[in-house]
Amino acid sequence: SIEEIFDAPEDLEARAPIVTVMGHVDHGKTSLLDYIRKENVIAGESGGITQHIGAYGVQLENGQKIAFLDTPGHEAFTAMRARGAQVTDLAIIVIAADDDIMPQTKEAISHAQAAGVPIVFAINKIDRPEANPEKIKERLASMNLLVEDWGGKIQSHDISAKTGLGVKELLEKVILEAEILELKANPNRLASGTVVEAFLDKGRGYVSTVLVQTGTLHVGDYVLAGKNSGKIKAMQDERGKNVKEAGPSTPVSILGLDGATQAGDKFSVLEDEREAKDIASKRAQLHREQSVRTQRH
Ligand code: GDP
Repeated sequence: SIEEIFDAPEDLEARAPIVTVMGHVDHGKTSLLDYIRKENVIAGESGGITQHIGAYGVQLENGQKIAFLDTPGHEAFTAMRARGAQVTDLAIIVIAADDDIMPQTKEAISHAQAAGVPIVFAINKIDRPEANPEKIKERLASMNLLVEDWGGKIQSHDISAKTGLGVKELLEKVILEAEILELKANPNRLASGTVVEAFLDKGRGYVSTVLVQTGTLHVGDYVLAGKNSGKIKAMQDERGKNVKEAGPSTPVSILGLDGATQAGDKFSVLEDEREAKDIASKRAQLHREQSVRTQRH
């Protein structure tokens, strides 16, 4: 990856995996993300994550961390990829055990494969009497996707996103799979990463949730994100807590940008404000010229 080209190996440190949840409609993507967010299974900290900021981080009992993109479905995944953003390290594909391999399941699988992102299957709704997880695994095998139970290499776990059964073990498998990737980043440089969500808050102004992919982001940094720029006035984590800095694989909401960024916009920290403003205004001008041209044609 780009990070490894510019950073000396000794400057790289292990970072948490960034995970997207995909799968067919109604198979339980939202329920799984909600369960992990609310139960906070895992983080041991009291009180679940109440904010919805487009991404959140959890910590397993053994201290290992996972960052989740909190936008289920492959639309967000493809939209981000279309904008050139490669954020996801690993995909959880949710399949309802009382259903079948459905069209969007297949799409999710092919999107992950096309992006070279490893898959962990979550065979969901096993609390339901009609659930037949073995049938799902058999179907996967017939598609050449052999899960571990079937002698293959792909991790899968039977879960209930409703009761939470198996979710902890699923996340442990995500960590195992991520370890193979040896994900690294240099925390000691100017931050860069990707916008995952942006909105206008009545009281606070433009809020962008970003995922830091390399470096460490600080309050006071000059940020360039798409056509926007600004000096970070404040940062908040998924619990709404003010933080002063955010390292690699950390989702954080930032305040201080001069406009609404878009999911998939890349951001980077620049040395000074002047530079950030110049580039942002050039980009905005280019964008205006392009839209004028499209209107004429
Ligand atoms: P999504 O479209 O993939 O995000 O699916 P949802 O999370 O919205 O779930 C669709 C429906 O299935 C909802 O009514 C959920 O309550 C239900 N559901 C999701 N997971 C489970 C589960 O593990 N067990 C049961 N019984 N129902 C579930």
